[in-house]
Amino acid sequence: MLNIAFCSSEVFPFAKTGGLADVCGALPKVLAGKKIKITVFVPYYRCVKKGGFKLKKISDHFLKGSLDGQADVIFVRNDTLFDRSELYGDASGDYPDNLKRFRYFCQQVLRYIEDHKLPIDIIHCHDWQTALIPVYLKELYADKKTFQTTKTVLTIHNLAFQGLFPVEQYSETQLPDRLLNPEIFEFYGKTNLLKAGIVYADKITTVSPSYAKEIQTESKGCGVHPVLQKRKKDLSGILNGIDEKVWNPKTDTYITARYSLKNMRAAKADNKKVLLRRVGWKDADVPVFGNVGRISHQKGFEVILKALEEILKLDCRIIIQGLGDPAYIESLKTYATKHPDKLSVQDKFDEQLAHQVYAGSDFFLMPSEFEPCGLSQLISFRYGTVPVVHKTGGLADTVKHKKTGVVFKPLNPVSLVRAVKQALRIYKQAPEFNALRKNAMKQTFSWPASARKYKEIYTCLLSA
Ligand code: ADP
Repeated sequence: MLNIAFCSSEVFPFAKTGGLADVCGALPKVLAGKKIKITVFVPYYRCVKKGGFKLKKISDHFLKGSLDGQADVIFVRNDTLFDRSELYGDASGDYPDNLKRFRYFCQQVLRYIEDHKLPIDIIHCHDWQTALIPVYLKELYADKKTFQTTKTVLTIHNLAFQGLFPVEQYSETQLPDRLLNPEIFEFYGKTNLLKAGIVYADKITTVSPSYAKEIQTESKGCGVHPVLQKRKKDLSGILNGIDEKVWNPKTDTYITARYSLKNMRAAKADNKKVLLRRVGWKDADVPVFGNVGRISHQKGFEVILKALEEILKLDCRIIIQGLGDPAYIESLKTYATKHPDKLSVQDKFDEQLAHQVYAGSDFFLMPSEFEPCGLSQLISFRYGTVPVVHKTGGLADTVKHKKTGVVFKPLNPVSLVRAVKQALRIYKQAPEFNALRKNAMKQTFSWPASARKYKEIYTCLLSA
């Protein structure tokens, strides 16, 4: 039996701000089985406390829950650090003690494993919030019996977030000063947690084959490409899947008309009506572009804003749901005030509305500047909503032009408008549009294939 500890700062349904939560809520369930036992670790945030989940108190510091009975979930409790309105920061910015918060989380994971004598073979860490674990194991826990043979995997979900902190906060890691050097933690005068994790982890993965290549280049390597190049042999890209139970138009209780391939056309039309009403519009037979996600530079909002005036002249509607950069949201709202019948901005985190947007839209607009994998285009496939995407990273790996979506490059306002016009032309050709929607729905980006690749990495590590 292989024992894996899965450590993440987000796990759906307990705590979510983006795709990291989807992955860490779904992958353990697929991996767990006769030969693999997974124990998931996540902080005990306020949203978990208030979420009505059935949890068992283990001690003042730990609670236990489960992912659909398939994997144990251990919640690390420290109310001073985690009982806050948000996961990482509020309107005034990131919490200034994030280094301390996630250092504490990493240490408590190791403490739990040690105190409970969990026979963990591999600790699978996700993103910078857990990147200290590989460093602790090799630097501080090397001679502890529990961890003698424990190996680590670090998955990078988005290299743009590296856990950068003022160098003065380095001591908060409680690691020796000698590690604060440009080979490990030091990064242009800052402390970089992810970089140290990349140096120390036994294997590194990221969430699509294209992104694995891109992050080794200067233009997409966010300054740590030399470190990734050095670890090239141990770095691989494994595509994310989606949880087909959570994202299933046949059984989705958040949407009005449930559907499969057979009744897709009629059901989507019904869902569109509901969506239009929900955002305050009258029913109309007009193509709808939806977008659910972080309103950020990464997701292409710089370009969307530059193209918006042109797009809003076209015969279509746009619904943008998301939280993020206040300046982008304000600009979007200004456009929405000017064009109240054509653009709706829903600046909230709302799981139900997200499902309604995926189900009720005709197209999903996703012109990301870069995209490690992207789940929204995969969810859109499942709901027969045609993604319109910039050819980059995981979007390039998953969306095929005119077969399952509209793919364009380069990323600039002119080519975005061109792609939207192309989508509108397709919309008018009902047979072509329906073929595209059906092809999209037939795509299978579910977890089993990717889970096999993770298992290969685990097995390879243990036989090394
Ligand atoms: P990210 O880069 O943010 O992780 P992904 O496409 O990988 O982007 O995943 C985003 C996930 O978060 C999807 O499940 C998406 O539906 C969800 N999501 C993002 N913003 C919101 C929101 N405002 N309300 C509800 N769900 C959201």
